[in-house]
Amino acid sequence: MGESDAATGMLPARLIARKRDGGALSADEWRALISSYTRGALPDYQMSALMMAAYFRGLDATELGALTGALLASGTRLTFGTEVPPRVDKHSTGGVGDKVSLALAPLAAACGVAVPMISGRGLGHTGGTLDKLEAIPGFRTDLSLDEARRQVERIGCVMLGQTDDLVPGDRKLYALRDATATVESIPLIAASIMSKKLAEGLNGLVLDVKVGSGAFLPERERGLELARTMIELGAEHGCPTVALLTAMDRPLGYACGNALETEEAFLLLRNEGPADLRAVTLALADEMVLVAGLAGDRAEARRRVEAALGSGDAAARCRGMIEAQGGNPGVVDDPAALPQAPVCEPWVASADGYVTRVEPRAIGWGVVAMGGGRRTMADAVDPAVGFTITIKPGDRVARGQPLASIYARDARTLEIGRRALEEAIGIGDAAPRDVLPLVGWRVTAKGVEELRGDGAAG
Ligand code: URA
Repeated sequence: MGESDAATGMLPARLIARKRDGGALSADEWRALISSYTRGALPDYQMSALMMAAYFRGLDATELGALTGALLASGTRLTFGTEVPPRVDKHSTGGVGDKVSLALAPLAAACGVAVPMISGRGLGHTGGTLDKLEAIPGFRTDLSLDEARRQVERIGCVMLGQTDDLVPGDRKLYALRDATATVESIPLIAASIMSKKLAEGLNGLVLDVKVGSGAFLPERERGLELARTMIELGAEHGCPTVALLTAMDRPLGYACGNALETEEAFLLLRNEGPADLRAVTLALADEMVLVAGLAGDRAEARRRVEAALGSGDAAARCRGMIEAQGGNPGVVDDPAALPQAPVCEPWVASADGYVTRVEPRAIGWGVVAMGGGRRTMADAVDPAVGFTITIKPGDRVARGQPLASIYARDARTLEIGRRALEEAIGIGDAAPRDVLPLVGWRVTAKGVEELRGDGAAG
């Protein structure tokens, strides 16, 4: 570990052994290891052994804080002047059809919140905000931190990808974890996400923790634990953090696929679009307004959010952001300006009955297989392909009724799309009983509140 040997007096192999055997590393030891790894002095094989030890043994609260702090210290941070309004971002743990960010950033900005939103690409079966934004002709996501700062000051929101100088330690470590099956660990996920969010110079953070079969952590208890862990880290770093647990046992909204989802997010900004997408987006917007201190209670926050949508301010903010980032702002009002799939075919119900499932993983992997996501990081993404699925579990349907549309590049990808829908959509004699509430739980530093399902208090 170079000079860090002197700081810890320890050899990496002995630190790995201590973690492997259930012991804890000190804050200095975590700092030395992460700094050494970021610089390239600690080899991948030692860091992957340490991550595997941490995956099985977990991290105590001190180690979690130390790892997060060490990742945060590996790069620069966004800083803002005191004249900039409260900065709040939203982070989703990832889902299918989750295009919330595209509408939420300009919506929150129109409510007076400053939103420096740093997003990621699709991961596994889930879509990524950057890929959806890049469906907009000309839109640049590779802004520097300076450009991002200036845009937030001027327009109130910016949406960009992670830069080289922001938390480089996590960038390297995340790629390593992805390749060594050490992603699905609550403390490692929490440290990774929170280090990136804390580097944005935020005054508050809202988390959308997905639960259900399409989420990375499907069980509600695990979702709650992740939420609590990130909330504690936020509190430690002076960034009040709130989490909503939202349903990912079916896709969110109708559209799944990059350009289709972008179009649907713009529909919402024009005060239209699917009810579930609206409910989740508005519930998260309420929380952003509240954590920013711009409303005294939820009802006041909701009035502010609805006014920003209804007046057209949110849509105008979105046009401004797109124009500032080199894109065609006309896409907000004209879906034809987005990439269009050459082949479109309806998909109809094979029987009378109830929709028993719309399985998000099968849909998400279907989009990937059609070319709308990546199998390897080097793959190009076809922005135009995907699905619109207009039914939800519990809906009554009749044989021959159109339930979905497949948007494909050619006959081959159309067939892949058909097979994905066959696998994903079930029709049976009875409505399912175990559909998750859309916005089921709210988690803060004070505890867990059960919500009515649409985000309102129960
Ligand atoms: N997303 C991240 O940024 N990090 C993780 O560890 C998992 C999901």
